[in-house]
Formats: sequence, C-alpha cells, structure tokens
Amino acid sequence: MTRPLAEELRPQKLEEFVGQEHIVGSEAILPKLLKNAKDSGRFPSLILWGPPGTGKTTLARILAAELGLNFHEFSAVNASTKDIQAVLSKEHKKGSNQLEFSSVDSALVGESKPPLVFIDEIHRFNKAQQDKLLPHIERGDLIFIGATTENPSFEVIGPLLSRTRVLVLNQHALGDLEKIVARAAKHLGVILNTDAHDFLLESANGDARVLLNVLEIAAQLGGKKLTLPEIEEAMQKRQLSFDLQGEEYYNTISALHKSIRGSDPDASIYWLARMLEAGQDPLYIARRLVRAAAEDIGLADPQALVLANSAFEACDKIGMPECNVILAELVAYLARAPKSNAVYIAYGEAKEDVLKHGNLPVPLHIRNAPTKLMKEIGYGKDYDYHHSIEGEKKEGVDYLPEKLKDRRYISSKIKKA
Ligand code: ADP
Repeated sequence: MTRPLAEELRPQKLEEFVGQEHIVGSEAILPKLLKNAKDSGRFPSLILWGPPGTGKTTLARILAAELGLNFHEFSAVNASTKDIQAVLSKEHKKGSNQLEFSSVDSALVGESKPPLVFIDEIHRFNKAQQDKLLPHIERGDLIFIGATTENPSFEVIGPLLSRTRVLVLNQHALGDLEKIVARAAKHLGVILNTDAHDFLLESANGDARVLLNVLEIAAQLGGKKLTLPEIEEAMQKRQLSFDLQGEEYYNTISALHKSIRGSDPDASIYWLARMLEAGQDPLYIARRLVRAAAEDIGLADPQALVLANSAFEACDKIGMPECNVILAELVAYLARAPKSNAVYIAYGEAKEDVLKHGNLPVPLHIRNAPTKLMKEIGYGKDYDYHHSIEGEKKEGVDYLPEKLKDRRYISSKIKKA
C-alpha cells in the first residue's frame, strides 16, 4: 500500500519546511537551538502550539533527525504514560544514560543519547499523566516535544510549562500553501485550473494536511486535469473520512453499538452509513456486530448470532459497495430484536469466580474413571447417567465445584435458558 500523500511529502529537512519563518528562519530560535546543541550538547524540551496541519509533528521529526536522536511518537488521545515508560526503559537498556541533571535543557552527550519523545495533543493528558513526565524531563531521560492545538497556559500544567519552551506555529499563509500545493501537484502529475486551485487554497483553512488530503482524493476522482467540481467533491469526502481518525473513530462505532442496544433501528442505520461512506472496513463493523448479537441480544433471540455470522461471511466474500445492504439488514434486525444481556453478565460473573477461586477441583462423581485405580479413589463414584435418573432426582445433582455449588450465573436470570 502506498503512503498517504501528506506522509509522502512530509519535509525531512529544515530547508524543505515551508513558512513558519518566525521559528525556523535563519535568524530564528530553532536554528539557534540546533547550533547551540552542536556546540554545547544540550537541547531543551519544547511545546509546539498551533492549529492542525501547521507542521508540529513534521518539525518534531526534523529535530530528531537533525539531533541524531531516536524518535518516538505518541498521541495523548490513545497512549498511556505506561506506553511511554516502556519505550524509555527499552531505550535505557540499550545503553545506560548517564545524563546530567538540568531543569530545562537535556544533555545530548555521552555514549547514549536520550530519545526524542513526541506527544501529540498533549493537552489530552490529565494533570496526573502530565506530572509523570516531569521526572523524566528532569533527569534528562528524554527530550520531550509536546504538540497542542490548545492554549498551553490553560491546558498544560505549570511545572511542565516551566521545564519547556513554548513555540507558536501559525496557520499557513496562502503563499505557503501555494508552495506546498505546487510541489504536490508536480509529484502527482496533476494540473489544477485557477478556480480549483483558489478554492483548494481557501478551503484548506491554513491546514497543509487538509490541502494535501483533498488534492490526493481529487486526483483519484478526476485524473490529471482537476477542476472545481472534483475539488468540491474531494473536500466532502475528506470531511467524512475525518470521522475515521482518532477519537471520532471510536465514537462512531460505539454510537452504532449503543443505537442497536437501545433498539433504535433508524439511528443504527445512520451510524452504519456514516462509517461505510467514510470508507470504514466493512469487516471491522461486521465483527463488532457479531459481538453485539451475543452481548446484547443473546438468548432473547439466538438467531441474531446466526444472522450476524452469515452477514460477516457475506461481507468477507463480496466486499464494498455491495455488502452495504447486507450490513444494513443485519443492523436493522439487531436493533429490532428483543434484548438480553444475561449471557454476557453470566460469563462475567463466572470469569470473576474463576479468577477469585483458582482451579477448584472437579467433583469426584463427575470425573472420568478410565482406570481401576481411579475408580478405587472415588473417580466417577455415584455418577448416575443423567438420562437414567428419574424425575425429581435429576434436579439434585451438583455439577459445580463444591465451593460454588449454590452459584447461579444464568439460571437466576433466565427461566428456560
Ligand atoms: P500537525 O502536527 O501540526 O497537525 P503535521 O506536521 O503532521 O501537522 O503536517 C501534516 C502534513 O502537512 C505533513 O505530513 C506535511 O506533508 C504537510 N506540512 C505541514 N507543515 C508543513 C510545512 N511547514 N512545510 C511543508 N509541508 C508541511
């Protein structure tokens, strides 16, 4: 699979980085810090504050390359501080970091240089999570670069702010976007007429990623000569596919699942369409629906699981766009079906007992007794073949381990399970 255009064209060197002259220009702070790093072997941790697509991630990568540091990228939306610690201890094992203490700058000298840890959307870490970064920055275990679209004075804790320098990136000016689009059009071998070009620049809203994504989609739609309608359509498509990134991705699948659980077929179909039209993998959705069939409908209508599994297989065989109606039928069925979470809850309770009580022994009377010795020590003793037991006696046999013999996981919830 080829990489997205924005990735493909991500500048690798400071000279290729367009605009943001106030921080990357020859007299500006970053070249100075880089020069200083070469002279003194120290570099500060940074917070890059600016709107999306202005080059924060790109800049962090370029800095890592210029400083010769290993680059590790996290997003505070889905990473935990444990993930970051795991990377640090791996790096630490490679060579023992004997780095000098410094409150702001980290030393880049010595056998093992610290890694550059980039955390996107740092404002999404809560106070406690941000706190956990402090000792690492203090000890110089890492060079930290955080990126945020929100004002750091409100969203970043004071101690972290005081250990970093904040650099502000601005929305790309039209002239900068023009340079980026010219390079991209050349790379793709496409030509934009004036209307298409101007509309693309205006609607990118200073975001280079939007600009490149839209151009890429338009090129797939419209071939080599791009006009206004292609750019407009590409803009709409990109808007939808935006749903598949980051948090929205989890929000939409969860909205679908909850609409089904809440027996709302209309909302269920809507969320399904939102995901499919944005290009979500139908099998990802189908997998979730098979799960929902057992989790939320369960024994209230066991046919739901059969249908969900068939729909999954059908989607696997025929793919999009044909499988959209198959998923729609399934979604409508699941939403309208009666609901029971008895099996789901029962399994949870049984699992809890297993974890709590460990390997409780199987009652002797229901053990197999294939050898004479086993028979002698009581295996299978008093086991009556179930079909031969008469009437009420059938009820009195215990199959659970002795300790749990009165536990009721499912029969307490469903009369005729
Ligand atoms: P941010 O982290 O600010 O959201 P990125 O650095 O990930 O934005 O930029 C997204 C894409 O936009 C990059 O992959 C790159 O192709 C393009 N881009 C962003 N800023 C610049 C820039 N200053 N010069 C050239 N391309 C850029």
